Amino acid sequence: MKLDYSALGLKVGLEMHQQLDTKHKLFCACPTRLRKESPSVNFRRYLRPTQSELGEVDPAALFEFKRGRVYVYESYDDSVCLVEHDEEPPHDLNPEAIDIALMVALMLHARPVDEIHVMRKIVIDGSNTTGFQRTAIIALGGYVDDIEGKVPIQTICLEEDAARKMGEKEKEVYYRLDRLGIPLIEIATAPVLKNPEQVERVAYKIGQILRMTGKVKRGIGTIRQDLNISIKGGAKIEIKGVQELGLLAKIVEYEVLRQVNLLKIRDELLKRGVREDDIVDEFVDITDVFQNTKCRIIANAIKRGHVVYALKLPKFSGLLGFELQPGRRFGTELADYARFWGGVKGLFHTDELPGYGISSDEVSKLRTRVHANLSDAVVIIADEESKVIEALKAVARRAKMALKGVPEETRGYNPDGTTHYSRPRPGAARMYPETDVRPIFITIERLEKIRKMLPEPPEKKFEKFVKVYGLSRELAKQMLASYRLDLFEKLVSRHKSVSPTLIATTLEQTIKSLARDGVPVDNIMDEHLEELFECLEKGLIAKEAIPKILEYVARNPECTVLKAIEKLGIKAITREELESLVKEIVDANIALINKLGERAWKPIMGMVMKRVRGRIDGRIVAETVRRIVSEKIKSSTSS
Ligand SMILES: [Zn+2]
Repeated sequence: MKLDYSALGLKVGLEMHQQLDTKHKLFCACPTRLRKESPSVNFRRYLRPTQSELGEVDPAALFEFKRGRVYVYESYDDSVCLVEHDEEPPHDLNPEAIDIALMVALMLHARPVDEIHVMRKIVIDGSNTTGFQRTAIIALGGYVDDIEGKVPIQTICLEEDAARKMGEKEKEVYYRLDRLGIPLIEIATAPVLKNPEQVERVAYKIGQILRMTGKVKRGIGTIRQDLNISIKGGAKIEIKGVQELGLLAKIVEYEVLRQVNLLKIRDELLKRGVREDDIVDEFVDITDVFQNTKCRIIANAIKRGHVVYALKLPKFSGLLGFELQPGRRFGTELADYARFWGGVKGLFHTDELPGYGISSDEVSKLRTRVHANLSDAVVIIADEESKVIEALKAVARRAKMALKGVPEETRGYNPDGTTHYSRPRPGAARMYPETDVRPIFITIERLEKIRKMLPEPPEKKFEKFVKVYGLSRELAKQMLASYRLDLFEKLVSRHKSVSPTLIATTLEQTIKSLARDGVPVDNIMDEHLEELFECLEKGLIAKEAIPKILEYVARNPECTVLKAIEKLGIKAITREELESLVKEIVDANIALINKLGERAWKPIMGMVMKRVRGRIDGRIVAETVRRIVSEKIKSSTSS
């Protein structure tokens, strides 16, 4: 179904978070590098929810607290300090990070603030040892150009990145502190984006501006996008942490679809005359109905001493099976609430029964037990009694919300672009001043200095890439969007005799195609690529050897390019060496030449290539083989 976004009144705000490639973290001198090695220290903390200035306690924060979770923080003696442990106050704001943020602000035509004040934003999931995230407004206003008109930027902030979640084990949640404190720039557009394509375009454009500074980190997880999406009559939905830019349009499209369908469900419920009071927290123990069930999930639960409870949703029949997004039904939304608030694995509902081993006999028994007729829906959950009760309460709450339409929520995304409930939207008053960090005054001189260092705008670069460097328009476009844009320009200016097209295809296409073949390309460092083109310019290798060398260093990241060349035995050979090799092979295959004549060059070429592949340009090999074969034919006919 094609949706008419302007008729629906779609409004999307985009928030981009990009890690900055600074030497140090935002509030201490620790490096901004993620660690692969196992941590040297572990410590445990409980977080307590605190009241905001207005005395409110975030309901989700309180809920997390009541779950009694323990946070285990993984740390390193040599790259994490007491600031990340929250055992020492934060240091001054990192000036390098401020300069980068100011540069981005100027590129986006925003107004930098006079004085930077750090604020605390409450976080409740343990991802920060302090229980809050530090954030500071750097600039206000500004805009980004789009074919559908200027898109206003609201704020540009500097933030500390959160700790990395490594996993969960019962009540323990593991976080690694290497990421905590890495500077992030946050750019928020006004909520004025009008359609899915525009959202993706603007995200791409902002990403490009960020990369043009040459000061941003690259690779999975270094850029994350939040969306807030609403339609007329719907609600503001926040979707957090999208890592793939190419998924943004799909996520917006599916979220609009979900809101449209939730409004349809609301209208249908009102038509059926359902009222909020009809949905009551009456949970019926129907464990005995399933004493001999063929449903494995329920049978196992009962074996463990768990219970099965049912909740009647009056006149909801047919609506739980109604699809909101591909593969996600209204029943799936109810199950999300049951999982989050009750900690259960999931639920069954009558719109999908009989099924999953539950017989029609069991279904009619359970309907009788809760006095449900065929126009009602029934939800059942099997688990520990206390969990089941919390889960069914949440299901009843969510069902009541269906009468109003779309509840405000924070949602996470699935790989196919659909979304799931992750928590209620936090209240407004979540910020308060950070008194441990001094405010920083931004001088006119500092801004002027940065203004002089601004990179050329993308349109100018594009023209230069095509006209001066001779890149195809397609490749120039890819290069402009590349995380290695900076490296590309550096390599082109350093290696004048290497074709810019070869450098661009290596950085963009060769690495991508290796990634598709499962090569761990994240291990390829800038230093590897710099050394690679140095070897190429010196004639140590042929360009054909590039993929092999990159694959080798990706699989052996401690290895230098020189070492890789040696290990692979692909040191380039000179024309003279090639010449004598070809002569040797031609002499050994005289019979073949006598039989095939000129056509013998092809099989001979194959034999030569086996020995020299990747060590010299293939065209030179072909030329040499053809020449020597015909010389041989001439000399044997003339004698
Ligand atoms: Zn530190």
